[in-house]
Amino acid sequence: MRAAPLNCPYCGEPSIEPVGDERAFYCSSCDRRFELRFLGLGEGGA
Ligand SMILES: [Zn+2]
Repeated sequence: MRAAPLNCPYCGEPSIEPVGDERAFYCSSCDRRFELRFLGLGEGGA
């Protein structure tokens, strides 16, 4: 399952789209590019 986040984590606008290689996204509202990483299951810890 691949689910894109609905809102930009920086500006909160729902204007992000996948770009370039696989985990990269671009927000056209704040002009940021960023990458999402899967860290594992569960809450994890510090
Ligand atoms: Zn943004």
